[in-house]
Amino acid sequence: MSKIGFIGLGIMGTPMCLNLLKNGFEVTVYNRTMSKTQKLVGAGAKAAETPTLAAANADIIITIVSDSPDVEQVILGENGVIHGVKSGSVVIDMSTISPAVTRKIAAVLKAKNVHMLDAPVSGGDTGAKAGTLAIMVGGDKKIVERCLPVLNAMGKTVTHVGANGMGQTVKLCNQILVSITNMAVCEAVLFAKRAGVDPKTMIEATKNGAAGSWQLANLGPKMADGDFAPGFMIDLQQKDLRLALETARESLTPLPALSLVHQLFTGCQTHGEGSEGTQALFKSLQRLAE
Ligand code: NAP
Repeated sequence: MSKIGFIGLGIMGTPMCLNLLKNGFEVTVYNRTMSKTQKLVGAGAKAAETPTLAAANADIIITIVSDSPDVEQVILGENGVIHGVKSGSVVIDMSTISPAVTRKIAAVLKAKNVHMLDAPVSGGDTGAKAGTLAIMVGGDKKIVERCLPVLNAMGKTVTHVGANGMGQTVKLCNQILVSITNMAVCEAVLFAKRAGVDPKTMIEATKNGAAGSWQLANLGPKMADGDFAPGFMIDLQQKDLRLALETARESLTPLPALSLVHQLFTGCQTHGEGSEGTQALFKSLQRLAE
């Protein structure tokens, strides 16, 4: 069975790593804030003081940290994975980051005969806890097959979508779909309210028809109730929308609807709502109608 090095014990990383331990993998963990390793050590993991040391004894190294510069730092930086990793091992980055940065890291690792997969996830902390994440994987097909037992311990669907960087590209497609659908729900709820229709009645009437979506069924009632607690925070969503818009610029692809949603989320951030759930997009729209 593969030995795992696991780097990044945040909201997502901690439950994902616990699922690896539950499935019998031997795991060495690293986290920048060392105190967060205690829970995993209590569940049977070893703790390492640097990413280099977490990688040294592993066949597969998993990273799930915040943004592109953070992944570069833990893999290629001082005390990074690259200084300890064995030839022939696999680095799986499960963070949501730039496809271009992913390809750059994969090329540097390849020169040391280390494989890379980009395997970002969808499903939030509930999916991470339940081991039901959707995992979108870019990289060599044979390497994906080799890593399947590890990926299956954390996710319900593992889809190989192409070469390095394409896992991240598909994750950004996921964020385009989610954000623009959220915007449609905001407009329908606002329109219903202002026309004197109970928004929850509108949601019940429409959610099982052609307009049905996860956002309508889950975020719509929260908008109607004025419940803006996170779920998935606006600040994190904005990081993903920035990545999608930057990546689209590289291929001169216009994304007008996503740009608008990004601006309206910026309005939420201006009003101090960045740590609220993404359904607080509704407030940005509502302000336009006041
Ligand atoms: P989080 O709770 O903020 O955790 C971030 C983790 O990254 C922490 O362990 C943090 O260490 C570490 N980190 C950040 N920068 C670092 C650096 N420069 N060097 C070393 N460690 C660093 O974030 P999360 O919610 O788990 O998200 C992690 C990734 O998954 C992100 O790319 C996010 O977009 C993606 N994602 C999140 C969700 C979600 O619902 N939360 C869903 C899908 C995908 P410290 O503990 O020291 O701060």
